[in-house]
Amino acid sequence: MKTTGPWTRAAAAAGLLKDGEARPTVFAQMSARAAAHGALNLGQGFPDDAPPTAVSEAAVDAIREGRNQYPPGAGEAVLREAIAEHQARWYGLRWDPASEVLVSTGATEALAATLLALVQPGDEVITLEPFYDQYAAIIALAGGVHRTAPLTSRTDETTGDLVLEVDEDALRDAFSPRTRAVLVNTPHNPTGLMLAQSTLQLIADEAARHDALIVTDEVYEHLTFGAAHRPLASLPGAQDRTISISSAGKTFSVTGWKIGWLTARPELITAITGVKQWLTYSSGAPFQPAVAAGLAMPPSAFHELAEDLRGRRDLLTDGLREIGFRVSVPEAGYFTVADASPLGEPDADALAERLPAEAGVVAIPLTAFYREGQAGAATAYLRMAFCKSRATIEQALEKLEAWAAPRR
Ligand SMILES: *Cc1c(COP(=O)(O)O)cnc(C)c1O
Repeated sequence: MKTTGPWTRAAAAAGLLKDGEARPTVFAQMSARAAAHGALNLGQGFPDDAPPTAVSEAAVDAIREGRNQYPPGAGEAVLREAIAEHQARWYGLRWDPASEVLVSTGATEALAATLLALVQPGDEVITLEPFYDQYAAIIALAGGVHRTAPLTSRTDETTGDLVLEVDEDALRDAFSPRTRAVLVNTPHNPTGLMLAQSTLQLIADEAARHDALIVTDEVYEHLTFGAAHRPLASLPGAQDRTISISSAGKTFSVTGWKIGWLTARPELITAITGVKQWLTYSSGAPFQPAVAAGLAMPPSAFHELAEDLRGRRDLLTDGLREIGFRVSVPEAGYFTVADASPLGEPDADALAERLPAEAGVVAIPLTAFYREGQAGAATAYLRMAFCKSRATIEQALEKLEAWAAPRR
């Protein structure tokens, strides 16, 4: 029986398959390994936290009230209105909830439907590298050509910490007459980097010059530890060519609910809906009013969520630094990047394989976010999640300390 299809063919052409097969993602593999070894899981980015009570209570109420059948394909009106109000209140962006907002099955579906709707075979799509692993897969499925702009790394002279940065020249050079879209993830997974104002402006300028679309992945927009998030759509002239994507999963600690959304001009919404309606049609009826309640929370409630996470970022990064890793201190998100080479471990792929058994801790090698052979210095880097309970982080640090002691 033939077991290949359009994705396998596209993925093989893009070099995404090993031995002709789609492997389980590194996150699934590492979570399985965590379970097998009873190891602490700092790998996959799902939080230990409970959602805000207002959000979980609203979902329970919605189920009890009988809101359990297919919601409208574009999303419940109450949620579309809450998304439009959120964009206006936080960013000064005006979107019409009836024609410029589309609710999706997580940011994942919004990204997939957007690229499948708007990228033709041979079109180029630019991302940073490292990148969230779904991007390469969907660009391949759409038949697009993936162009990347690598992040660079250096050591901060005063702190000795690892600093990851955008190479603006490389980003500018990635644009070409065939650029159809630039897919911008800020705050960034896996690094927690927030793009500087100059980088956002460069992207807006180059996209305008090449008449390219801007697709944003802003799922960490509220989990910032210093400067506030600035959406690309809010730059002068950028809103008409931008599809802004976000999700409730990370902000409200409900990654299993899979409620996401996008905002864009009506003609783009129409094109994307043309794909989205045949993927899932709609989803998450009782979760939609609950997410609407979450988006309407006062700013102080969002700041408390981020502040709490910032404490756990500091716990993990301070602990890893003491153990002997060279760490990056992320500006946002769920993850820190740790360089294991000071501990005599220059190969993070091999280290991530051994750590669950040797130390009882699971981490993800940063190579999972690069194309084959493109990781450079990052082959020694691990991604570790701090969206876990303080107790989990403290135990993981104790285990890593015991593992590292003989290596220093
Ligand atoms: C988690 C994550 C997503 C997926 O969001 P869902 O709403 O769970 O589909 C997309 N992009 C990035 C960068 C993420 O970290």
